Amino acid sequence: MPELPDVEGFRRLVAANATGRRIDSVVVADSGVLEPGLDADRFARAVRGRRPGPALRHGKWLLLPLGDSSSAHGVPCLLVHFGMTGGFVWCTGHADGHRHDRILLGFESGSELRYRDMRKLTGVRMAEADSEVDELLNALGPDAAEVSAAEFAARLRGTGSGIKAALLDQSVVAGLGNLCVDEALWRARTHPRRKSRELTATELGELHRAMGSVLRSSVREGRVPERRGWLNGIRNERSRRCPRCSAVLCRAATAGRTTVWCPSCQPE
Ligand SMILES: [Zn+2]
Repeated sequence: MPELPDVEGFRRLVAANATGRRIDSVVVADSGVLEPGLDADRFARAVRGRRPGPALRHGKWLLLPLGDSSSAHGVPCLLVHFGMTGGFVWCTGHADGHRHDRILLGFESGSELRYRDMRKLTGVRMAEADSEVDELLNALGPDAAEVSAAEFAARLRGTGSGIKAALLDQSVVAGLGNLCVDEALWRARTHPRRKSRELTATELGELHRAMGSVLRSSVREGRVPERRGWLNGIRNERSRRCPRCSAVLCRAATAGRTTVWCPSCQPE
């Protein structure tokens, strides 16, 4: 599932290839990915002939301005969420089609930016007014890669939920998904079901540091790496032992997501 590091990878892909280039063709192969109320013809009309400005990312959202700089957000602005299985793919020349390509933007260079998604979760929106972009951003917490330790602690203390649920809540901090959260909690030695508001300032500081470190390493790779020494390196193995202490790891649903933690390093 795309998390902040994956979406940052998509942002860089778009920034490196599409910025300033004219979109010559728009193919909506499956309008099921467009937000309700946005039909394929209106989408194509609004996008064709535009030159994307610098792509921005906030949490797991990618913002692609298509208008000029006379508006705050460069509207019309594409707002793209990658759901559970989505991604951007850049294709040069005459690359073969893929059955999960839902939207294809053809550029003057002959290359294509494709929104590929196995599922169809209406992840593509189009904001035609700055207020629509503000509405999205206002519903999200600060970006997990940018939030200060003080704000991070204050926001988590303000929730009544368990720490895992709070970290996954995009209105608390934006960008974290299941893998980043489990990795950060394991590094900070925090049990996923502890109440956020009961964590000490030291524990929250440790968690903020762990999250920052996980995100920096993952952003470099465009994904949360399945690396030796990481929880994510062994979470899908049949016999899972803690890379730090070799205890057998626990695995259970927490906050509705499969959670892996070490009962020895992360006491409840
Ligand atoms: Zn352990």
